[in-house]
Amino acid sequence: MTPDFNLLICVNEVCATYAASVTSWWRSPSRNMKVGGVPNSAHLHGGAFDVVYDGSVEPPSLQQVMKIASKYRCKVLRERDHDHFQVT
Ligand SMILES: [Zn+2]
Repeated sequence: MTPDFNLLICVNEVCATYAASVTSWWRSPSRNMKVGGVPNSAHLHGGAFDVVYDGSVEPPSLQQVMKIASKYRCKVLRERDHDHFQVT
């Protein structure tokens, strides 16, 4: 499956704006299982990114990242220790 260009641009904007890093993109089925990903995770086909903020600038509110995500027809889920981005 070809990665979604809008998702790439979305994550690029979030990382560039908020000093964030991608910690997960494609996952093999065994890696996905090891990290507790759901069986049908979008990470299994490169359709999702996980992002963490390094704190050198004020980390964004969920509303701020949702605003960027919606601009690119993506959604964001705020997890315990990262934000998960995928196409809607
Ligand atoms: Zn994720």
